[in-house]
Amino acid sequence: MSRYLTLQDVDVSGRSVLVRADLNVPLGSDGSISDDFRIRSALPTLEGLVESGARVTVCSHLGRPSAEDPRYSLEPIARYLDGLSRYYVTFGKGSAGDIRVLENTRFNPGETENDLVYAAELGAGHNLFVQDAFGSVHRAHASTVGVATLLRSVAGPLLDAELTAFRRFTDSPEHPYTVVLGGAKISDKLGVISNLLPKVDQMLIGGGMCFTFLAARGVNVGASMVQDDMVGTVREFLEGPYGKRIVLPTDLVASESFTAKGANRVVGIRSLTDHEIGLDIGPATANLYADTIHRSATVFWNGPMGVFEWTPYRRGTERVAQAMATTKGYAGVGGGDSAAAIRSLGFEHQVDHLSTGGGASLELLEGRSLPGVEILERWA
Ligand code: ADP
Ligand code: MG
Repeated sequence: MSRYLTLQDVDVSGRSVLVRADLNVPLGSDGSISDDFRIRSALPTLEGLVESGARVTVCSHLGRPSAEDPRYSLEPIARYLDGLSRYYVTFGKGSAGDIRVLENTRFNPGETENDLVYAAELGAGHNLFVQDAFGSVHRAHASTVGVATLLRSVAGPLLDAELTAFRRFTDSPEHPYTVVLGGAKISDKLGVISNLLPKVDQMLIGGGMCFTFLAARGVNVGASMVQDDMVGTVREFLEGPYGKRIVLPTDLVASESFTAKGANRVVGIRSLTDHEIGLDIGPATANLYADTIHRSATVFWNGPMGVFEWTPYRRGTERVAQAMATTKGYAGVGGGDSAAAIRSLGFEHQVDHLSTGGGASLELLEGRSLPGVEILERWA
C-alpha cells in the first residue's frame, strides 16, 4: 500500500523514459571507480526497462562539482555500465544506445537550485520519469524534484525496495526490535536516536559516539573522542522515559596512541586511564551485542563499532556484521562505512537489506519525509 506509483502501474513499451539513478560512486585519486556497488545496484532497473520495450535515458550526479569539470564526467561511468550490461550503453543525449547516460547533472548550476528551466531540459522528449536514486531523494534538486513536477513520475524498483525496507524499521517493526548505532559523531545521529528510541526494545551503542554517552553517565573516558556540547542532550536521553533501552559497552579495546600500530589492551569501562583512547568495543560487549542481534526479530545497524579501518580495532565491527548476516530476524544495514564493512566481509547477500543511501537513510530514520519521494505522491 504505497502512496506513489511504481513501474507495475505503468506501460513503458515504446515510451521514452528518463531514469534518475544514483551513479554517484567513490572515485580514486586517478579517477578510477573505487567501489561499483551503486552502479551494479542501478543496472537491473535500467535493463528491466529496456526489456519492457522502453527507450531509456539515465541521469545522475557524481561528486560535488559546481560547474563543468572533466574529473566528474559520467562518460567513464557509462563505459563501465556498458561493460557490465548485456545491452548497449552509450554516453550523451543524442547517442544511439539501448541505455543513454547523460552528463553529470551537477555540471548545470540549475541542478542544486532546483531550477525549472534545467528540469524542463532534462525532461524534454520523455514520457515518463522513474525516480530510482534513493541516495539523492532527500535533496530538492532539478533531477529529483523539478523534473518530477513536469513529467508523470513513478518510483523505480530500487527506490521502492529501500522505502519498503525502511518502513519495517520506522513504522511497523516486529519485536524484539534492536537498533545498533556506532560511527564517529553523535551529532549526526541525534535525530535517529530520538525518533527510534520510543520504537525499539534496545539500542546498542558503540563507535566513537559511545564515549559521549559514557561521559554523560559520569564514566572517565580517558582521551577518547567525546562531543562535549552533546553531553547534556545525551544525559536527557539516558534519564528520559526510554533511557533504560540504551545499552553501552562494558569493555573496550584501548590504546594510548591514535594510530593503527600502538600497543593496546582490553579494558573494563571503569578502568580506562587518562591517557587511553577507546578504539573498539571489547570482546564481552561484542558478545553481548551479537547475542542481542541474534535474539531480535528486527534489527537495524548503522555505524562501525570501532576504528575498523585499522586491523587491531576491527573485531567489534566484524562481530556485529557477522551477527547481522546470521540472525534469523529481519536485518538491515545503512551508512557508507557500515555497508562497506558488510561487503568487505562478504556478507552482502546475507543481510536482508543493504541500503545504498547514507544521508537519505538517516533522514528516513529521523522520521522526515523526503522531497524526492513526496513529489512522486502527487502522481498517484
Ligand atoms: P557510517 O558511514 O556507517 O554512517 P560514520 O561515518 O558515522 O559511519 O562513522 C565511521 C567512522 O567512525 C569510521 O571512520 C571510524 O573510524 C570512526 N570511529 C568508529 N569508532 C571510533 C572511535 N572509537 N574513535 C574514533 N573514531 C571512531
Ligand atoms: Mg561515513
